[in-house]
Amino acid sequence: KERILEVRGLNVDYGAGPGSVRAVRDVDLTLHRGEVLGLAGESGSGKSTLAYGMTRLLPPPGVVASGEVLYHLQDGTTVDLLRIRDAELRRLRWSEIAIVFQGAINSLNPVQRISTQLVDVIKAHSPKTSPRARQDRARELLELVGIAADRLHSYPHQLSGGMRQRVMIAMALALDPRVVVMDEPTTALDVVVQRQILRTLVDLRERLGFSVVFITHDLSLLVEFSDRIAIMYAGQVVEEAASADLYRSPLHPYSDGLLRSFPALKGEKRELTGIPGSPPDLRSMPAGCAFHPRCPRALDVCGDRVPLLGQSRDGRSVACWLHPVAVG
Ligand code: ATP
Ligand code: SF4
Ligand code: MG
Repeated sequence: KERILEVRGLNVDYGAGPGSVRAVRDVDLTLHRGEVLGLAGESGSGKSTLAYGMTRLLPPPGVVASGEVLYHLQDGTTVDLLRIRDAELRRLRWSEIAIVFQGAINSLNPVQRISTQLVDVIKAHSPKTSPRARQDRARELLELVGIAADRLHSYPHQLSGGMRQRVMIAMALALDPRVVVMDEPTTALDVVVQRQILRTLVDLRERLGFSVVFITHDLSLLVEFSDRIAIMYAGQVVEEAASADLYRSPLHPYSDGLLRSFPALKGEKRELTGIPGSPPDLRSMPAGCAFHPRCPRALDVCGDRVPLLGQSRDGRSVACWLHPVAVG
């Protein structure tokens, strides 16, 4: 499969010097063309930091300490998003990679009609379009995401949370991006609305052909809608697999625990047990496997040596001493 975005050895810190914490550690991640890649992990596992870091939108005191983010353009050239100039990055953002961030629905301007806000986005990036063409495009975009034309001139407060979320997706799609990154856009919405929105996005992905990175801690949503899933724990990717494989046979005990934390939407029911304990303080990470203090299956080696994320012959990746075949 064609690769579109590759994160290689990404490390992200908050702060510098002795007081700094590493919130994303040695992350490798590949997004293929047209796929939905889900990113899951408990609160604080570094999902947003990864999304901001790889798109160079990290607010201070966040800094990318090392790594590269290779983006393969349509003309066959490859750029490292972390090293291109600001002007080029601005050009790629929205037209190539569009991002809907956590809490983005609150960034809609409350005193402007959504049509105006959409038209402004289109205008900012394609200033040569006529006002008429922009209006038409705004209407078309809202229809794409399932908002009726008679809502075009509504103010944000006149729309439900789910509809505001759809407006955010419409804005992200305004310039026909090849990659859409959505960071947990649905936390505040109820499960039914979350599923409808994700369904809309996945359907659009099929029609328009973009790739999606979808970030949430609700693994059951990802199992249903994503092609592949990467699981993060304490800043690291601890397992990556096709959704169906991950669901059928999670290899990492943390993945297994996460799957038992949310009611399954399909498939056989699992006992909901969750994961006892809480993630480590990034300032004092446990030695060995970061998950070992909480791991029900920890071995002696786990407290001493860090398991590295290795790929097995069947294309699955896991960082766990229970699966040494996959390591190295
Ligand atoms: P959530 O599911 O709650 O959105 P997340 O997986 O997106 O969580 P991040 O927001 O990326 O997690 O946070 C990763 C780690 O970085 C956490 O331990 C958090 O405390 C830390 N962190 C985030 N922002 C800052 C900051 N501005 N300064 C210092 N530490 C930060
Ligand atoms: Fe558990 Fe050890 Fe695997 Fe870590 S490496 S998840 S502690 S079994
Ligand atoms: Mg987050």
